[in-house]
Amino acid sequence: MKIFYYSNTLREFLKNKDNNLGFVPTMGALHLGHIALVKEARAICGQVVVSIFVNPHQFNNASDLQQYPRTLVSDLKLLYDAGTDNVFIPSVTDIFSPDSVLSKIDLSPMDTRYEGLYRPGHFRGVVSVLHNMFDIVEPKHVFFGLKDLQQCLVIEKLINGYFPEIHQHNCAIIREHSGLAMSSRNSRLSAQGLNDATEIFRQLSQLKQSALNFTSERNSSIEKLKLKGIQTEYLDLVQLPTMDPIDQPVVGVRQALVFAGYLEGVRLIDNIAV
Ligand code: AMP
Repeated sequence: MKIFYYSNTLREFLKNKDNNLGFVPTMGALHLGHIALVKEARAICGQVVVSIFVNPHQFNNASDLQQYPRTLVSDLKLLYDAGTDNVFIPSVTDIFSPDSVLSKIDLSPMDTRYEGLYRPGHFRGVVSVLHNMFDIVEPKHVFFGLKDLQQCLVIEKLINGYFPEIHQHNCAIIREHSGLAMSSRNSRLSAQGLNDATEIFRQLSQLKQSALNFTSERNSSIEKLKLKGIQTEYLDLVQLPTMDPIDQPVVGVRQALVFAGYLEGVRLIDNIAV
């Protein structure tokens, strides 16, 4: 496994790359959800690059950035064990030079709903880092997790607008046995918190069963989450790919239940296809 700390050395190395190159961008603090993306990439691509880069521009909250877990040694071990070819660990100034500007791509309506609404500037930061990373790595395939459903939709905009040659793969959510969606942020929860957080998937699964009565069931789910100490930020049934909220399932349309909330000061998101 090769490790690159500078974009110019990675670029140079990739000059002779496999033309079926796969790219898995991450912020580190890796878990089996990330590794599933690496495995999917390895199954399709001759060569895979995984980046570890905590992008300051996608944090709308300074303390969230500061508290973001950093576990480089165990990340490298997990990546090695998963058979990763190349790891890219650049500095912030390498990816965002002092004179670089954030992407101007039109993100509407995603930048004003759900994650876009509650995390102002977040998606602008996401598309900016990916734009710069895609320019460096020039991948043929990129792999993202449906855990960040809205992010997948935003990246589709970036790829359709600027990188039509890239094939985007949106991979299934990997969960703990308890149902809790794996997340780097879970490591900030106490043992009790990890237990209480399982209520999120339980409520999403129950709401999926009773989606025809979504509007009446929604409040009871929010109450049950509250009993576990979880403060709901949003819990909605949405139509895809627009993320327009709907009152009940519509036949023949892709839709999902989306959730964000706080437990023990940690922001957790999850979603389930309906
Ligand atoms: P992050 O390091 O949080 O930026 O995540 C890097 C990539 O891993 C993103 O595409 C995430 O959607 C994906 N990811 C994170 N958690 C999971 C999970 N539990 N299942 C599948 N993909 C995930």
